[in-house]
Amino acid sequence: MTTDIRFDTYYRYDAITQFLHNWPEKYPDLCRLSSIGKSYQDRDIWLLTITNFDTGPDTEKPAFWIDGNIHSVELSASSAALYLINHLLTHYGSDERVTHALDSRVFYIVPRLNPDGAEWALADDPIYIRSTTRPFPRTDQLDGLIRRDSDGDGRVLQMRIKDPNGAFKPHPEHPRLMILRQPDDLPGGDYYRLLPEGKIQNYDGVTIKLAPRKQGLDMNRNFPVEWTPEQVTGGDYPASEPEIRSAVDFIVKHPNITGAITFHTFSGVHLRPPTKGPESVLPTRDLRTYKTIGRKATELTGYAAISVHEDFAYDPKSYIKGTFDDWMYEHRGVYAWTTEIWSPQQQADLKDYHYIDWMREHSAEDDLKIIRWFEENAPEGYVDWYEYDHPQLGKVELGGWHDIYSWSNPPHKLLEKEIAPLAEFALYQCLISPRLELHSVDVTSNGDTHRIRLVVENTGWLPTNVTEQALNMKIAQPVEVDLELPEGARLLMGELKTFGGQLAGRDHRSALTIWSADVTDNRLKVEWVVAAPSGTTVNLTAQHDRAGVVRTSVVLGNH
Ligand SMILES: [Zn+2]
Repeated sequence: MTTDIRFDTYYRYDAITQFLHNWPEKYPDLCRLSSIGKSYQDRDIWLLTITNFDTGPDTEKPAFWIDGNIHSVELSASSAALYLINHLLTHYGSDERVTHALDSRVFYIVPRLNPDGAEWALADDPIYIRSTTRPFPRTDQLDGLIRRDSDGDGRVLQMRIKDPNGAFKPHPEHPRLMILRQPDDLPGGDYYRLLPEGKIQNYDGVTIKLAPRKQGLDMNRNFPVEWTPEQVTGGDYPASEPEIRSAVDFIVKHPNITGAITFHTFSGVHLRPPTKGPESVLPTRDLRTYKTIGRKATELTGYAAISVHEDFAYDPKSYIKGTFDDWMYEHRGVYAWTTEIWSPQQQADLKDYHYIDWMREHSAEDDLKIIRWFEENAPEGYVDWYEYDHPQLGKVELGGWHDIYSWSNPPHKLLEKEIAPLAEFALYQCLISPRLELHSVDVTSNGDTHRIRLVVENTGWLPTNVTEQALNMKIAQPVEVDLELPEGARLLMGELKTFGGQLAGRDHRSALTIWSADVTDNRLKVEWVVAAPSGTTVNLTAQHDRAGVVRTSVVLGNH
């Protein structure tokens, strides 16, 4: 059964699996499906490799990594990855940027890195957890209020309970909207406690606490960078989770990966490392390049590109460890981004707010702007309060934010508009990668003695090492050139294997043309003198882990 993919809905695992199997059938020369491993609940973690296989295997081309939905409820992250796949496959041959990208480069796309958690979020009786469904750090459920659909309508909303000591009150002009009570609001008002919809395990009839999540692990704290056990949500040890181990293993075995985006929600920003300190700790060149890429990201998507540490820290005194983008930049030496899709604040046109601080504290006016935006554009995002006879709490009201399709993800009908520009950002980043290409190969012969000259060059914008960090971490291998001589041929000068260092890109050319020094530091010239009968064919290979492989051959002799 083949149905076209749509971007006004959120798909469950089986549907995504079906699309991922259909694409290689429809586009056999452009994509191949593989499973990089199994999730905790034994689901395949699918990876689609997209390139023009007629121009060479994926492993011999520079690649770009995309993943999504490591966090369970961040479903639009999968949508963004699926949108990119569909865009690339349907635009190859008609869009010259897509065509060039797939002819010269590769995308590795994992639309749903955490299939188990997303499946719970999309279930008829949804369960919203942070990431993996594996219980952690305990296997039992501790007591308290557990966030679940209580009245059987399939929605997990909010619960409001009249209470003279509640911290919330209806907005005076817009009573369906709940806002924080002011510090000096006098007793006796119309006050409520606002809690997640759910039931209380072992309710004592008086006290309500939130039950700690039985699934308390955050897989975006499980990457092998800065990992420490005291950040309890990070798992048992670095890459202890099968989903993360599968991704880490694939990435390490594919040194051709030159950059990455991990899709998350929400906030409408592109986040860049480092998490652990101010951005000034980055090598200057890398920081400049990161900012250049970020400016383009903003131009293409409207999302600001910001530093995690400076602009997105939950607590400036302690930093988050074990995240994907930090691991990719620090240990793999590539420019990696965490793109947080969607922002109700931006939709409602709020200006000059700080991403994280705003969550803690903001004006009732901001809330009013946001609810009015929803009422006009996606009214299903906010539900009118309705009475509900709670089995433990008696008469309460359910309603308020239907969070998963209002804040955590775009409302269905706005999904496509939100994720489409992200494909352009991914394409841009893929196109700027280093790329090794043949410049020329020449032979000068004198009888049976031949001088061979091979010139290869980096035609990409980034240098072959991609970052300074890759050099600091000693993971960027030099360009390697191999001469393969057939029997009867003898090397008189040169080396069978030559290491050529790193080749520059165009990334740090000065825009001020009076300073122009557009030297050929992107080129490598290798020469040999070979004794062989005329007509002998020799094979030449130039390769760089990150920039791809060039294969050529030359026939010796004057002819
Ligand atoms: Zn996330």
